[in-house]
Amino acid sequence: MNTKIMDKIRKVEPYVPGEQPQNKVIKLNTNENPYPPAPGVKRALRETDADRLRLYPDPSADKLVSALAEYYGVGKDQIFAGVGSDDVLAMCFLTFFHSPKPVLFPDITYSFYKVWAELYRIPYECPKLDQAFRIVKEDYYRENGGVIFPNPNAPTAVYEELDFVEDILAHNPDVVVIVDEAYVDFAGKSALELIDRYENLIVVQTFSKSRSMAGMRIGYAVSNPALIQYLNDVKYSFNSYTMNQISVACGAEAVKDREYFEKTVKTIVETREWAKGELKKLGFCFTDSKTNFIFAKHPEYDAGELFSYLKKKDIYVRHWDSERIRQYLRITIGTREEMEQLFFALRAYLHNAR
Ligand SMILES: *Cc1c(COP(=O)(O)O)cnc(C)c1O
Repeated sequence: MNTKIMDKIRKVEPYVPGEQPQNKVIKLNTNENPYPPAPGVKRALRETDADRLRLYPDPSADKLVSALAEYYGVGKDQIFAGVGSDDVLAMCFLTFFHSPKPVLFPDITYSFYKVWAELYRIPYECPKLDQAFRIVKEDYYRENGGVIFPNPNAPTAVYEELDFVEDILAHNPDVVVIVDEAYVDFAGKSALELIDRYENLIVVQTFSKSRSMAGMRIGYAVSNPALIQYLNDVKYSFNSYTMNQISVACGAEAVKDREYFEKTVKTIVETREWAKGELKKLGFCFTDSKTNFIFAKHPEYDAGELFSYLKKKDIYVRHWDSERIRQYLRITIGTREEMEQLFFALRAYLHNAR
């Protein structure tokens, strides 16, 4: 390629998503929910009128935004919906991280943050998690251009209580702080209850994990009306029609069924706690997960080899060949049956390796 053309191209190192094998495997690698979406979602899909697809969707995704506003008891002007939280977070980076000072996020965290920062040429720094994989909150008490972290963090699965989040907010009154709560439904209190008190807070959540709708691509941000307005201004400068008709209708149905949602989340949490016991019996070490996955290592066996072995058995988990976490596997909590099969395979491996 002509180097003068090359010079004018924006080059980026893209995010690498987990594998999405299209054959039937035990899929514990991308933190999807093993249970189907709420029954109302299926109904909404059946009732979809294909003739209406000739029309553009509602650019404000009002049905979905209204359902979320009612669910959380906030104003409609406090919610921003997007095509998965990846889309919402990408818009947040573009809107709120606009400073020559570095944005701060942990060294071990959702790897997309770094990709967006590079894409938008946002300077960033990554304070190290401590030995126990906990965020050191004091590292975020210095001058910066913004802060983002997941709570619970991924892939470490560690959840910090709200007073911890509040300390970071209180020490950063002059920048926007984004709390990515992709897994909070499996954990504890959401920072949503702090939005009235901290004008710098944006909370981002997703339908991909606790609401079993990764394939539909729905995420949202909740904040005060002023920050949501800035987010919308950027969105309408980029792509007005992000949310398609079907995801708006299905998303609204999912939000309305609180009972189904709570039931599936509870089941996953129960399976997780049981799985911790099983992993422990096999000699694995792991953080105290408050998510729908467990971040585990075995002191005697190489994680990369374990990963390959499981894959050959058609059991997919996630492994990163990167510093500090090379010996860990991230295992999504599936159904009890799927987890039994995982443990069956692990027991066979540990037994034969001895
Ligand atoms: C899964 C995940 C997301 C993205 O989820 P979407 O499917 O795009 O809604 C964002 N942040 C973290 C920490 C995640 O684990």
